[in-house]
Formats: sequence, C-alpha cells, structure tokens
Amino acid sequence: MNPISIEEIVIATNGELIKGNGKDLVNNISIDSRKTKKKDMYIALIGEKFDGHDFIKDAYEKGANTFVIDKNHHIDLISEDINIIKVEDTTKAIGDIAKFYRDKFKIHYVGVTGSTGKTTTKDMIYAVLSSKYKTLKTEGNFNNHIGLPLTIFNLESYHEAAILEMGMSSFGEIEYLAEIARPHIAVISNIGFSHIENLGSREGILKAKLEITSQFSKDNILIINGDDEYLKTVKNKKVDYKIKSFGFNFDNDLKCIKYETNEDGTQFTVELYNKEYDFFTPARGKHNIYNAMAAILVGMELNLSIEEIKKGLLDYKATNMRLDIIKKGNIIIINDAYNASPDSMKAALDVLNEYKNNRKIAVLGDMLEMGEYSKQVHEIVGSFAKDKSDIIITVGNNSRYIGYKAIEEGFEKSNVYHFSTNEEVVELLEKIISDDDVVLVKGSRGMRMEKIVEALC
Ligand code: ATP
Ligand code: MG
Repeated sequence: MNPISIEEIVIATNGELIKGNGKDLVNNISIDSRKTKKKDMYIALIGEKFDGHDFIKDAYEKGANTFVIDKNHHIDLISEDINIIKVEDTTKAIGDIAKFYRDKFKIHYVGVTGSTGKTTTKDMIYAVLSSKYKTLKTEGNFNNHIGLPLTIFNLESYHEAAILEMGMSSFGEIEYLAEIARPHIAVISNIGFSHIENLGSREGILKAKLEITSQFSKDNILIINGDDEYLKTVKNKKVDYKIKSFGFNFDNDLKCIKYETNEDGTQFTVELYNKEYDFFTPARGKHNIYNAMAAILVGMELNLSIEEIKKGLLDYKATNMRLDIIKKGNIIIINDAYNASPDSMKAALDVLNEYKNNRKIAVLGDMLEMGEYSKQVHEIVGSFAKDKSDIIITVGNNSRYIGYKAIEEGFEKSNVYHFSTNEEVVELLEKIISDDDVVLVKGSRGMRMEKIVEALC
C-alpha cells in the first residue's frame, strides 16, 4: 500500500488519537498478529471466534507500532513510540479506511457479484483487463466486509484498474461493500439459490445483488447475464444508469452464437452490434462462456481493442479447485470440490457429460444453506444428473434427494449410491473405478470433498 498518515486514519475513521503522532505514516495494515510485521498498523477486529484485542501484545512484539482499537478497550503498552487510535467500531473502521484509501486512486473500479461464478468471472475480467491495464484483483475469495478492504489496501500508484469480488449472505451487505468500493462498472453473474434462507426468495436475492448499483449515477454501467430469468427483468426497470446484457438469447447486447468446448478450453463466437468475433479461453464448459462474455463487455467498456480482449481471455488462469481436470493414469478426475449451488452443479454435470465415450461417475455432496428449499434444489440437480451421468454417488444428508429424483425419473437404481461420509465414498470408488472413467467430485465447501480427490490421487 501507499503510505497513509495517522491523521488521515483518524479523519477516515472519525476516531480519536489517544496516543502518538499524527504525522507518522502507515505502510501496511494487519489484522492478524501472526502475520504482523515491523511498523504495521494493527487493527483489533472482533470476530465470531476471536477478539483481536486479545492479540495486541503479540502484534506489538512482532513490531506493530500503530493500533486501532475499539472505544471500550484500553491498551497498556509501555513504549513511547506507538500510536493508538480509538474508534467506535473497529470492523467499521477497516471499511472507512478502505473507502478513504480507495479515493486516492483515480482508476477504473469494477465490482462483481452474483450467486454463482463470482470468483471465476472476476478472474476472467482480471485476465482481460490485464492485457491493457495494470490491474489489482481480489485474491482468492476475499469478498466480504473484511476481505474487500484488505484487497483495496493492496492498491499501489502503478495500478490502473481494480476488479473486486463482492459476496453477501443477507440484505445490506453488498450496499456496504459498494459504498466502500464505489464501482464504475458492476457485473452480476446470475441469481440462484445461495443464501435463500436469509433472503426469503429469489426476488429477494435479486434485490440484494442489485445493491451493487447503490452508488451509481448516469455514467455507470451494470452488466448482467440477460438469460437469467430474474436478471433480465432489470432491463425493463426504469433506472438512472446504463445496462448491458450478455447471453445466448437473441435479445442480449452481446450474444454467443456458436461454441465448442473440450479439454483444452472453449472456442466461441459472439455477435455484437451485427459484427462477429471469435475467442478462445482455456476454461471449459458453457457456463464459462457466460463468464467470458461478462469480461468482454467490461473490456469493451474500458476501451480495450478486440485483440487485447482476445489475448486476455487466452491468458486466463482459474483459481483453485474450480473445475480442475486431473489425469491419474487412465482415469480423469474433475475436481470441482470448492463449492456447490444448483447452477454450478448443473454447469459441472454439463462438463462431465462432454466425455461421451467414457463412463461418467458423478460424486455429489450436499448443497448447504438452502433452508426450506433444500429438498427442492437437490431434486432439481437429480433430475439434471440423470441425463448427464452413468453412476450417481451422493454423500451427506440432503444429497440423497438427488438420487431419489433420478431414480423416480427412470435412472437405473443399481447405479445410485448414498453415503454419509467421504471415506465410504472413497471405499466404493476404489472398488468400482476402472480405466477411462471420468469422475466428477463436487459439493458445498463444508463437505470437504477435496478429501475424495486427494484419496483418488
Ligand atoms: P463464492 O460464493 O464461494 O465466492 P463464487 O460465486 O465466487 O463462489 P466461483 O468460485 O467462481 O463462484 O465458482 C463456484 C462454482 O461455480 C465452481 O464450481 C464453478 O465451476 C462454477 N461456476 C463458475 N461460473 C459459473 C456460472 N456462470 N454458472 C454456473 N456455475 C458456474
Ligand atoms: Mg468467490
């Protein structure tokens, strides 16, 4: 990060400097005493499990010389050369500092949200923008009220664009993130079922995702998946910003008219204002064409040439455990253990189904946090999986409805298995797996299904 003065921190947080020198500069911000370095500013956050105030001494011993603490706390460190800033709420303070810091950089800000595919879309947009601009991106999945500020602190003077992932689990969270990041361009990938427990309905999810436009004015632009049945309704709304859509349907601004996807990646042709363009990206599956189209629109909006966009998509690299294709002898494993929602389950099953000449084994775990919709969404996946796989193995609790539904709709009963643990799945796989099988492994994060992949490897 660029240096920021203690005075500025005090202004940004509306805090009180109770000890120290306002002219001192902060060069790095830390929230974890284990990672704190010399001269860092340590912010004592209060989390669900830990209270950062309990680690102030550790941070001090590591060399931190500035501390941001909650108004009800008190520090008795003896050193003369430390700064202490008291704030109303340290969690809010980290956001306030990020918001202040963000304003120092007059660069292109792009925000991404959506139920499924945020990280993948963010990585694609990063790949595209990087072919013209020095771009900062959210690392991994740092997409919440702590991760977003930490990402913003990584901005340096040389950056020309930032692509930021924004996640949420209830109303108001995206609005909070949008106030900090104030994106000029916002992308919404789709409206699925994730966190429907908190949001009540899919209309609720749409409303919450649209909070990403809360800071928009007439020059800002919202880029949406226009094939999504909820997102497309936004096009008919009267809003005071611009909207562009992508998809396969004819009524989108950017449409995919032809594609071919295989192990190396995806070749596709899009149409924009009656012109056709060809692209290739080393990511497979139809869903990745949606993600790539979002990136193309962002690239065009930010004045990249078609050649630059092409090069960017070619350079795309996926973040871990998202549709990694692993070859183990003659067996192919599709590791998609990172997470699962109904949309991403379908996307992964489509990829499995591309292996026309192999036996296809779908190992599917629970999709968690679906509340009262749980049975329904597992059944939706079951109905889809029956046409895309030869053997269905489910693990967990509600994933059993995947199998029930598949059988109800005619899938061979003896090819369906259900277990409660990953170990049992591995045991079965070791017995039945044979050369040329393709095994898809996918479930929610909490199911830890990478354990199955590790055992197979
Ligand atoms: P999280 O909420 O954990 O941040 P995310 O929205 O960032 O998730 P990704 O990590 O990009 O989503 O992808 C999650 C899963 O969805 C992966 O299995 C990925 O292959 C799949 N996926 C990616 N893009 C799409 C898409 N457009 N439609 C459906 N599934 C997708
Ligand atoms: Mg993500």
